[in-house]
Amino acid sequence: MMAHELARFGVNVRLIDERREKEPGSKAIGVQARTLEIFSALGLYEELIKESHQVTGGTIFSDENAPIHVAFPELFGFPTPVIIDQRHTEAVLENAVVKLGVVVERGARLVDFFLHEDSIEATIEHGPGATEQVYFSDVIGADGAHSTVRKQLGFAFSGKRYREGFIVADAEVTGLDDHESFQVSFKKSGVLGFIPMKGLNHYRILAVMRDISSDQNISFEMLQNIVQKVWPKPLVINKPTWTSYFHVSCRSAAHYQKGRVFLVGDAAHIHSPAGAQGMNTGLQDAFNLGFKLALVKKGLAPSSILETYEMERRPVGEFLLKYTDRLFRSMVQGSFWVRLFRRYFLPYFSQSKRLRTRAIRIISQTAIRYEKGVLCSARHHLKTSCFRVGVRTTVRSKLDLKFLVLLVNVKSVEQIAQIKAELAGYEGSVMVDIKKISEELTNDLLVIIRPDGHVFCVAPISAYKESLLSLKKFLVAA
Ligand SMILES: Cc1cc2nc3c(=O)[nH]c(=O)nc-3n(C[C@H](O)[C@H](O)[C@H](O)COP(=O)(O)OP(=O)(O)OC[C@H]3O[C@@H](n4cnc5c(N)ncnc54)[C@H](O)[C@@H]3O)c2cc1C
Repeated sequence: MMAHELARFGVNVRLIDERREKEPGSKAIGVQARTLEIFSALGLYEELIKESHQVTGGTIFSDENAPIHVAFPELFGFPTPVIIDQRHTEAVLENAVVKLGVVVERGARLVDFFLHEDSIEATIEHGPGATEQVYFSDVIGADGAHSTVRKQLGFAFSGKRYREGFIVADAEVTGLDDHESFQVSFKKSGVLGFIPMKGLNHYRILAVMRDISSDQNISFEMLQNIVQKVWPKPLVINKPTWTSYFHVSCRSAAHYQKGRVFLVGDAAHIHSPAGAQGMNTGLQDAFNLGFKLALVKKGLAPSSILETYEMERRPVGEFLLKYTDRLFRSMVQGSFWVRLFRRYFLPYFSQSKRLRTRAIRIISQTAIRYEKGVLCSARHHLKTSCFRVGVRTTVRSKLDLKFLVLLVNVKSVEQIAQIKAELAGYEGSVMVDIKKISEELTNDLLVIIRPDGHVFCVAPISAYKESLLSLKKFLVAA
């Protein structure tokens, strides 16, 4: 995503990956609504969704209750989450970057780098004894949980490792009732879940068992035995395409940035897969940083705009760690409080559309809000039904490198001319549009939407000078 965003805006990039072959299995399968929105704005949605499977809800079995059914409400025309193999999501992005002229250099490993005052000197290894010394203006470490970039920056990666690990397998399962819902069982012995994937009877199977440790030889047969023991009715599972065992940790990098070196994705934060958030969050990290770095590289914004990357994305990462930790513990730990929560809260949750919608808005990542005073201006903020400062809007469907100054309901030709005059010299980074948005919005408003679709400000038109001034702080005039 990072390479795609930079290349799309005409910035030269080198994309290296130490891995020569693709991963044997798909880690992420849950793709959230905000990711789908972004792929749609980038013109990649149709390609992505070709290999998807839609889940409409799920059934939860537990020691504490009768089976509970939960339906997922649809958000903004996008189902959430959609099940897509991470290898396909990566392939869609890889094809897109190749079309933009980027070469994916496989088998090229970043060994280390040195920060000079105005450049970064990196060593890249292309094979035994074949190293290259190269200078970059910026380095983005999207190099996963064991990030070389993070280690090289000396950033702590503090947090914890859970006692429980989990077995994961993709296989054919017969005997489950429907292929549109996930099914999960919480028992004293552990957790067992089935998530339907594209393909007849094809499922992701997840098992977290308290009496299994990573020292044991984890096998598909072991998983078959667990399923027989734990699942309330007989199932046949076979034809595994992938089996693996993962330890789960919850960690956050001390910083996401030092000078012109940045961390995105698992290099910056890792957590349990509960809630299907990791890949989606990493994609949004890159989407947030991409337009800011492109503006700076094109001389359209001062480098200070880059500081807003960590300011905006770190709180998102911290929140994510907290809630996936709670979610994971409520799933796998059998404490008194957790059982109480499952017994009384889960039935209530499954019945309450309001609570489910709230939860799905968080999980879908559409509720992410960049706080006041970062790359948003809340000074003249108005609350409207369509726009909320810091929150993404879909009013702007095409996302290019320009901030969109939207004049809502404004008819005065003189006022429009004044606003355009205020923005003279910013044509490379700002465009003005005049629109009526909906019947509900009757005030004359000035709304500024960032290149990533998040709202920069919502102000009465009378405050246009102050709002444009706030925007200009982040931009450079021609
Ligand atoms: C079982 C499982 C299920 C999951 N399910 C979901 C889900 O449903 N939804 C979700 O959103 N997330 C999910 N996740 C999390 C998701 O898979 C990760 O968050 C995501 O893969 C992180 O992407 P990344 O690019 O940051 O890191 P990685 O996927 O780890 O990629 C890092 C890349 O950097 C390369 N690299 C590393 N070091 C170097 C170096 N020194 N030089 C050059 N290249 C290097 C590696 O080869 C690799 O290609 C799941 C994870 C697991 C384990």
